[in-house]
Amino acid sequence: MPQLTAEQIAYDQQHIWHPYSSMINPPPAYPVVAASGVRLQLDDGRELIDGMASWWSVIHGYNHPELNAAAHAQIDRMAHVMFGGITHAPAIELAQRLVEMTPDGLDRVFIADSGSVSVEVAIKMAIQYWHARGQTRKHRLLTIRGGYHGDTFGAMAVCDPVTGMHEIFSGVLPEQLFAPRPETAFDGDWNDRDIEGLEQLLADHHQEVAALILEPIVQGAGGMRFYHPEYLRRARELCNRYHVLLIADEIATGFGRTGKLFACEHAGITPDILCVGKALTGGYMTLAATLTRAEIGETISAGGAGCFMHGPTFMANPLACSVAATSLRLLQEQDWAGNVARLEQGLKRGLAPAAALDSVAQVRVLGAIGVVEMKEPVSTVGIQKAFVAEGLWIRPFGKLVYVMPPYVMSDEDLATLTGGMVRVLAHHR
Ligand SMILES: *Cc1c(COP(=O)(O)O)cnc(C)c1O
Repeated sequence: MPQLTAEQIAYDQQHIWHPYSSMINPPPAYPVVAASGVRLQLDDGRELIDGMASWWSVIHGYNHPELNAAAHAQIDRMAHVMFGGITHAPAIELAQRLVEMTPDGLDRVFIADSGSVSVEVAIKMAIQYWHARGQTRKHRLLTIRGGYHGDTFGAMAVCDPVTGMHEIFSGVLPEQLFAPRPETAFDGDWNDRDIEGLEQLLADHHQEVAALILEPIVQGAGGMRFYHPEYLRRARELCNRYHVLLIADEIATGFGRTGKLFACEHAGITPDILCVGKALTGGYMTLAATLTRAEIGETISAGGAGCFMHGPTFMANPLACSVAATSLRLLQEQDWAGNVARLEQGLKRGLAPAAALDSVAQVRVLGAIGVVEMKEPVSTVGIQKAFVAEGLWIRPFGKLVYVMPPYVMSDEDLATLTGGMVRVLAHHR
């Protein structure tokens, strides 16, 4: 028996925006009534193996007993309290774990509401830092094409200007600087030419640039591309040479997804500012964080304003912090690296047959991320229907059909996921 009425579904279609959705002939939204482990349960009782981990976030699986227990314990004590002039154990425990896990030296923590907000916070930190040092001209940002950093204005301004879905707003966004995207693949042969565009922009503009912001190794929503670690090492050196801060947006890549705890570790570099989000609460609720070095925190605080100028109403919500701290503990206590390596092997093996399809341009896998890039854009609605008929939840965009499963997915479920994916792609036109 469906649990949602036809009236409810109709109401949703007429009144509720979904991510990047139309209000004219909205695409169908599948009613999900429960989720457990790696499975979503539809209203009609069907179960779907989830290949998306709810957009990178549900790393431990749905309805996890320890995350549930953390939420229950915290909600019975205190769901929320303001963070101005008040502190609490969940925030402190979360900050301790973040400092412990992230690259050395990042030990000043700003707890933010969402990924986009953590990017705004990172941008403001960089600008305030140079302002406090009397370098008020350094307020522009440099980034690389093909990036995605969120949907708020500061973040939009550093998304890819063409594919970034934000061209309509170009007139009102601050004009930032864009270097060519790195062309050498993650496992390709490094070519020095890849860094020349970035170097030239820094040489020409460093006096006005506060920070370089990029997604390390994996460009996510901007194209699901995996680039060479040498690019990051060079970018780090160039930032040092030209006195520009480096902001690493690890909102998608953080917490093990690429096979390292943080993607920066593929290159052995430490950014000046680091953004994390998505998997931070194990997908239970929205929370993100921006970490930086002590010197940046102190310089900002010694500036004219005397403080960092940001403080959301729901900053460090105790319920979210408590679940996040537990999620990080679960990650630290398990062999996450072994699990991600296992998924990497399974994705490589399972998706390999897709490379032989005429419609497929390329198959690539890194860590627990599997991408099939098609030659032509797919119809999201049509292909989604076919995936659901196979018992799978996969949400492609454009030419990209990709999965980033929960780390707890069994080999058997993974084989079902990749096998169904290849079957659907073989018949899709
Ligand atoms: C998802 C994402 C964001 C935005 O995070 P939200 O929580 O959706 O605001 C920013 N940067 C990257 C790399 C992301 O993948």
